[in-house]
Amino acid sequence: MSVTGLPPYDDANIFARILRGEIPCKKVVETEHALAFHDIAPQAPVHVLVIPKGRWVSAADFHAGADDAAIAGFWRLVSAVAKDQGLEAHGYRILSNMGADGGQEVPHFHVHIFGGRRIGRMVP
Ligand code: IMP
Repeated sequence: MSVTGLPPYDDANIFARILRGEIPCKKVVETEHALAFHDIAPQAPVHVLVIPKGRWVSAADFHAGADDAAIAGFWRLVSAVAKDQGLEAHGYRILSNMGADGGQEVPHFHVHIFGGRRIGRMVP
């Protein structure tokens, strides 16, 4: 689903294919609501992606359309992954790109977790 003016959900996107088990990923953890896996091109010593299992293009779509249990389960997993990856002591960054101007490449909502080094300031 897309409520943001972005194209509608494309079931051929790579994260949909990962969720269907059609292509492999380096899984960190999977729950009823979400899947966490290592980014294929890590930009930091820890670079994990967390995706909800529903067909949501962006954060706005997810927050508008998913049920509360799915939203809570997703965000709790983001924090749990960061903790399990040992990032709490020194901090980390979570980031979600949305649409063309946001630099989103994969049109399935995801949050990046970056950590393990000092993450520089991101200048638009
Ligand atoms: P976006 O720009 O926020 O959409 O980021 C998409 C991210 O997905 C990039 O950091 C890519 O490196 C990552 N990515 C693309 N394909 C795969 C894959 O097959 N496995 C894991 N990460 C991927």
